[in-house]
Amino acid sequence: MNLEDISTVKSLLSTPQNIVIVPHKNPDGDAIGSCLALYIFLKEMGQKCSVISPNDYPKFLKWMPENGSILNYEKSQSKCEEVFKEASLIFTLDFNDFSRTGALESILQKSNADFIMIDHHQQPSDYAKVTYSDVSMSSTCEMVYNFILYVDGGDRINKSIATNLYTGIMTDTGSFKYSSTSSKTHRIVADLIDKGAENMRIHSQVFDTNSPSRLHLLGVALKNMVILKDYRTAFITLSQEELDANNFKKGDTEGFVNYGLTLEGIVLAVIFIENREEGIIKISFRSVGDFSVNEFARNHFNGGGHTNAAGGRSNISLEETVAKFKTVLAAYENQLKS
Ligand code: 5GP
Ligand code: MN
Repeated sequence: MNLEDISTVKSLLSTPQNIVIVPHKNPDGDAIGSCLALYIFLKEMGQKCSVISPNDYPKFLKWMPENGSILNYEKSQSKCEEVFKEASLIFTLDFNDFSRTGALESILQKSNADFIMIDHHQQPSDYAKVTYSDVSMSSTCEMVYNFILYVDGGDRINKSIATNLYTGIMTDTGSFKYSSTSSKTHRIVADLIDKGAENMRIHSQVFDTNSPSRLHLLGVALKNMVILKDYRTAFITLSQEELDANNFKKGDTEGFVNYGLTLEGIVLAVIFIENREEGIIKISFRSVGDFSVNEFARNHFNGGGHTNAAGGRSNISLEETVAKFKTVLAAYENQLKS
């Protein structure tokens, strides 16, 4: 954030505000962690504050400090609409465009509140009074840590804030292994441990709470994996039938896409997941090196994200989506080979 933005934020927060904090639809660890950390911080400052999520999130995040205070728009629509009506200041965290919030998009568009965006995705939209956008950041949680220091709130980072921020940095960096993990990230994480984040406990609460059916579903996904050697690509499909047969719960497929990249020589990994209720195929893309899945998802699959991790969707059938993917891929053969 530049000096002008910092002073704008400080002046906004120097008066009592009705604050709402919003993550993207299908929030992940970074979205939930950043929202909850900021929520606890702003409450400690004496601000009135709520977190409103567009929809539900996975069980493996439902232990995070203060997660019980998150309002779910899909479950309590009228209550959430009341809260938005009162809002004077809205923080949007871990996304770059209102369209990433599903049903909240039109509410955000109509709101008269001031917006503050904190986000690390490419091509941020221009809706906020203060846009703190930095694609070099490992996570929105790392940015919320910086944000708290910018407004001179470092002393308020307690165990609950530290735990939320640690969780989001950990999940968005693939446990500190992605290229966005800097020495600064590690210094921040070290400080969060000093402030009370119990690193081993956090890892086990997120990663070691599998159900047998989730592991069975992983087995199906790995069996379904197709390797396109000429394109250095591996992709996985999961049909609604396969999900149903394995007692699918929200979040169960998290991380499945990454298995493709553990194959030697593979630079692009994709998973296609059928969602019959929404009538879409949800797609996750991961890459290593220069191949931009952000561009690929934006240009062909209605999505976006980061250079090496992006998402998208398609409105045709699973089989047709895979066929389209293979057709589109042909144009990238040289890029994927180099
Ligand atoms: P995931 O594949 O884990 O759902 O998402 C990977 C990254 O891409 C995340 O940073 C996420 O915010 C972004 N992303 C996922 N789905 C979409 C989408 O439909 N549109 C856009 N613009 N970004 C997405
Ligand atoms: Mn993130």
